Amino acid sequence: NIPHYDVIIVGAGAAGLMCAITAGQRGRRVLVLDHANRVGKKILMSGGGRCNFTNLYSTPENFISANPHFMKSALGRYTPWDFIALVEKHGIGYHEKKLGQLFCNESSKDIVRLLLAECAAAGVTVRTHSPVRIAQTGEPYRLVTPQGELSCESLVIATGGLSIPKMGATGFGYELAHSLGIPVQPTRAALVPVTFDGRKLKQLQDLAGVSLDSVTAADGVEFRENLLFTHKGLSGPAILQASSYWQPGQPLQIDLFPDMDLVEHLRAQREQRPKLVLKNLLGERLTRRVAQRWCELWLENKPLGQLSDADIEQVAAHCQPWTVWPSGTEGYRTAEVTLGGIDTTALSSKTLACRDHPGLYFIGEVVDVTGHLGGHNFQWAWASGYAAGQYV
Ligand code: FAD
Repeated sequence: NIPHYDVIIVGAGAAGLMCAITAGQRGRRVLVLDHANRVGKKILMSGGGRCNFTNLYSTPENFISANPHFMKSALGRYTPWDFIALVEKHGIGYHEKKLGQLFCNESSKDIVRLLLAECAAAGVTVRTHSPVRIAQTGEPYRLVTPQGELSCESLVIATGGLSIPKMGATGFGYELAHSLGIPVQPTRAALVPVTFDGRKLKQLQDLAGVSLDSVTAADGVEFRENLLFTHKGLSGPAILQASSYWQPGQPLQIDLFPDMDLVEHLRAQREQRPKLVLKNLLGERLTRRVAQRWCELWLENKPLGQLSDADIEQVAAHCQPWTVWPSGTEGYRTAEVTLGGIDTTALSSKTLACRDHPGLYFIGEVVDVTGHLGGHNFQWAWASGYAAGQYV
């Protein structure tokens, strides 16, 4: 007489709770297990405590996966508007910050409360402090927890990625996949600040705190956003976005003068303001501190009238783009997401079920689907949770 459930979901994060709600509403007997001491820790810390819970303009182009088509089915069946309707149903105030990014007016706690209220209404049981060991795969699945053995017909793995280990992230999903022979795309930290070492770090370290408009590109993919100098390297939305496309050993191309042809601008300014020194002109866009440092490091701070065409080319070569070679990233300690994960070839895009393991599902960040910054990762969690919830 092992307690039996129709559905057991491992991981009470965004995807797991959405799946539980959807399955519970269909009348399934659902249990959610999480090893942490509270549910939805990443939701709570997300968006600077205000949870950027979706993005109005979320499309499949906002996601990275070895199969760029895989996410289309689930995203098409649960749109940002579906989640907004849920937010409005619970009377949670929200606003668009920029670029379609929707945040809670008050606190991310409102989103966790919403999910738990919906779970309760759907008759879902949620249990924290419950590390899980899988004792038997195949229907019925059998699990061992500190509260005893359990069995279920459908087992959903919603254990998320590897980022922020101190918030409870584990490699549970990937390890299970490995043990069952399910392919996993290589994982690495993404939406993460990049670091410098040695001379580069010394040259730039004390610019920490300066933020600049930029078009930052990695591997040919560009983002128009701010970058931020840090004590270890570079961060800010432009860098976080580009980090998902950056490979170790590759450069980042950072246009510090977006919307402007810098060579033309310098030539025109040479005519119009010949007495102005280069540092002051650059400072109009780059801030005084960065302009000063660029002149100390790479450029001669002459009056514009004395700049030759070759000097102007030299300025552009350090600004448009500024090519930097990060030594690495800050890694999972500060990354917002994990790139890679359960290979989508092993899963149905409609149900998120494992093709070779009836009754086993993978949803959310553990799957090889990674969103851009700006609410897309939660949208994938909601959509994949909903898709599986309809079939478990
Ligand atoms: P998670 O939310 O990570 O949930 C996984 C759950 O599984 C956790 O509760 C964990 O405790 C549990 N678990 C793990 N291992 C085990 C185990 N072995 N046994 C039992 N339980 C286990 N995305 C956005 O869209 N907007 C944002 O504003 C945003 N801000 C972020 C800020 C930060 C600092 C971070 C780290 C991430 C942010 N993200 C944001 C990304 C987003 O939080 C994740 O993509 C999303 O939470 C993934 O949902 P998930 O349900 O797949 O996994």
